[in-house]
Amino acid sequence: MTKNIQVFKPTYRVEETLELIRECMEIGWTGMGFKTIEMETKWKEYTGVANAHFLNSATAGLHVAVALFKAKYGWEDGDEIISTPLTFVSTNHAIKYERMQPIFADVDEYLCLDPEDVKRKITPKTRAVIFVGLGGSTGQLEKIVEICKEHNLKLILDAAHMAGTRLNGKHVGNEADVTVFSFQAVKNLPTSDSGMICFKDAEFDKMAREFCWLGINKDTFARSANDGSYKWQYDVPTVGYKYHGNSIIASMGIVALKYLDQDNAYRRQLRAWYQELLSDTNIEFMQYPENCESSNHFCAIMVDNRDEVVDKMTQSGIFPGVHYIPSNQYGPYKDQDGKTPKSDAISKRLISLPLHLQITREDVERICNTLKNILVNY
Ligand SMILES: *Cc1c(COP(=O)(O)O)cnc(C)c1O
Repeated sequence: MTKNIQVFKPTYRVEETLELIRECMEIGWTGMGFKTIEMETKWKEYTGVANAHFLNSATAGLHVAVALFKAKYGWEDGDEIISTPLTFVSTNHAIKYERMQPIFADVDEYLCLDPEDVKRKITPKTRAVIFVGLGGSTGQLEKIVEICKEHNLKLILDAAHMAGTRLNGKHVGNEADVTVFSFQAVKNLPTSDSGMICFKDAEFDKMAREFCWLGINKDTFARSANDGSYKWQYDVPTVGYKYHGNSIIASMGIVALKYLDQDNAYRRQLRAWYQELLSDTNIEFMQYPENCESSNHFCAIMVDNRDEVVDKMTQSGIFPGVHYIPSNQYGPYKDQDGKTPKSDAISKRLISLPLHLQITREDVERICNTLKNILVNY
């Protein structure tokens, strides 16, 4: 029996992680604080961002970003946020959670938002742009930053794929007004479920900490808490959510972060092997811009007859992925269907080749040979 090869599979440093988790359990602190603070500090050191709040998911983080900007700047229900259809639905759900209107702009040659189409989609109701760093790519993020400045729009960076991505040699996270990372199990800094929200402005970081802890605010009583007597007292000025992360999951993140650069280097190696072994075919690879050192969250290729190719690979025990079926194909976003022809056409041809740390050179050879055997039939 040949082994099955999955598109994604997390690798955990089990003993090292369990040691930190044991520490949490022995001292009896598994919730927010302790390891979540350590994770936030280490993330700020690693990325160079000014603020970082550890959350239970990136989906939560994207919601927080939209909700806090909406509240602060007085955006109204039905106001517009420009986004990409070629993403995981979380990106666009975040807009809907706050009863705002996603407006899809088309993608460019990097499969990220096309600055020219973003400009065309701006209306008097546009309030923000959400840019997705697809597969760890920075696409034309710098141009989007300029457009947002010029039109006074907030920029939210969905960096769910971007742990370890560098733009012009610097880790991403300082370009947008807020950047949201995912540490979900199949992302390239795997925990089980968690994320990080990094606001440029410290005031929003403070608001986020309150919003993500049910709206609880201890500041009013901070002084009396110092003598230990009124720790139970707090104010709840607004209705918040329970979105914060905990110390058990943060322990997973702290260990994964230590290995992030090493892991991403191996992902780059896998992509290089795929390119080498498929160089004698006409398979197109999704390209990264020159100034982007991508995390290589996935390795996307484009083929015709995509569905049949995926079916045949699956029959050989190789399970590729598709990133993504565009959001405009799903019920809540049907009103945007037909507005992004390039995204629609590309998404029908996309395949993500297996890319994770347990894949060997031998596996890559088998995957490429299988793919070539399938393609000679077309
Ligand atoms: C995975 C993902 C998210 C959501 O991340 P979670 O941590 O699972 O909530 C958001 N956006 C994109 C592009 C993703 O791939």
